[in-house]
Amino acid sequence: MTAVISRQIDALLPVVGGDLAAPLVTGECRPYANLDYAASAPALAGVASHVNELLPFYASVHRGAGYASQVSTGVYESARAIVANAFGARDDDVVVFTRNTTDAFNLLAGCVPADRGDVLVLDLEHHANLLPWRDRDYRCLPVSSTLEQTLKDLDSALAAAPAALVTVTGASNVTGELLPLEEIATIAHRYGARLAVDAAQLAPHRPIDLAAAGIDYLAFSGHKLYAPFGAGVLVGRRDWLDTGRPYLAGGGAVRQVTLTDTAWAPAPARHEGGTPNVLGAAALARACQLLAALPAGAQEAHEAALQERLLDGLAGLDGVRVHRIFPDSPGAIGVVTFSLPGYDPGLVAAYLSAEHGIGVRDGKFCAHPLLSRLGLAAGAIRASLGVGSCSDDVDRLVRALSEFLESGA
Ligand code: PLP
Repeated sequence: MTAVISRQIDALLPVVGGDLAAPLVTGECRPYANLDYAASAPALAGVASHVNELLPFYASVHRGAGYASQVSTGVYESARAIVANAFGARDDDVVVFTRNTTDAFNLLAGCVPADRGDVLVLDLEHHANLLPWRDRDYRCLPVSSTLEQTLKDLDSALAAAPAALVTVTGASNVTGELLPLEEIATIAHRYGARLAVDAAQLAPHRPIDLAAAGIDYLAFSGHKLYAPFGAGVLVGRRDWLDTGRPYLAGGGAVRQVTLTDTAWAPAPARHEGGTPNVLGAAALARACQLLAALPAGAQEAHEAALQERLLDGLAGLDGVRVHRIFPDSPGAIGVVTFSLPGYDPGLVAAYLSAEHGIGVRDGKFCAHPLLSRLGLAAGAIRASLGVGSCSDDVDRLVRALSEFLESGA
């Protein structure tokens, strides 16, 4: 049975991860097993070639009359349209290009009106969706032992005091567990709050439709979505973004300036002062198109099969504990966090890298409150999968951990 699943997974690889995997694959075995997609995912070959195509047209955006400037401006604005389309943005939504997810939430924090209630977050969030809210009126709701109870608690918290914004992750960067975004949107909207979603982990793994899911704001990073570092997105309702504090004061963000007054432009220009990251935006948009072009469900099936294989493998090892937040979450993306009680996570991760060429992440994953809640204040190890992952990567990790435990290192 395992062999059959293994063949199915490897048969999918050329379909879903072919162009990405090619440089890493040497015959049957890869020199490096990348199990750290959740941190940053290597750019797709189709993204890299798009960037190369655009390089000769490197010229000023929005401000130049020359041909190359017009091409650059067209590329940048069409990247915006591609992103809006890929994520089911409504007609009145606006796409702001940012540096990454962290940047997007810091931007949004300056746009949430102060007179509509506070900002409510869950305590399972990545720091990017915790810290930007701390300068304003904000509440952190501890999650319960089940998701069902957590949603009830959310309902009660919103009934007790109005919130302007509920902001949650779409998929945990620690456990990969998915949150039921449509249900959360319904609860938030019932009490007049808007919903922002941290899609840094969700966007690379699942299609997202803002309008259909009732998501008001979505933030994600290009570098986790098979595009280069340095570009991210905040997409959502125009009104708050048009009136909020301009995020980057400077050229391009204004309509008119005198020595004493500034007439700020509406979004997105309002928040994109200075010369934008055109190549980053174009690469991110191309990555969205390439992922959307994969056969429906292929990526999810590919990653789910590998994740099952990994979980089965880890379950067979005495001395490895896999961690979850909820017993009733509606599935997970390909992210698995585990610990080897009695062993330092950093030491295990270093062993996996040095002795077996396996790249995992160790530490507290920028989610200190959640790690403490899971009893992992000293950190843990995270293996994460992507379109270029294959069964060999997973098997190598399980074998290496088994050897480590047997050696009693
Ligand atoms: N949110 C989640 C769920 C993440 O996993 C990460 C990065 O790991 C971030 C936000 C922050 O992303 P970035 O560092 O690209 O801003």
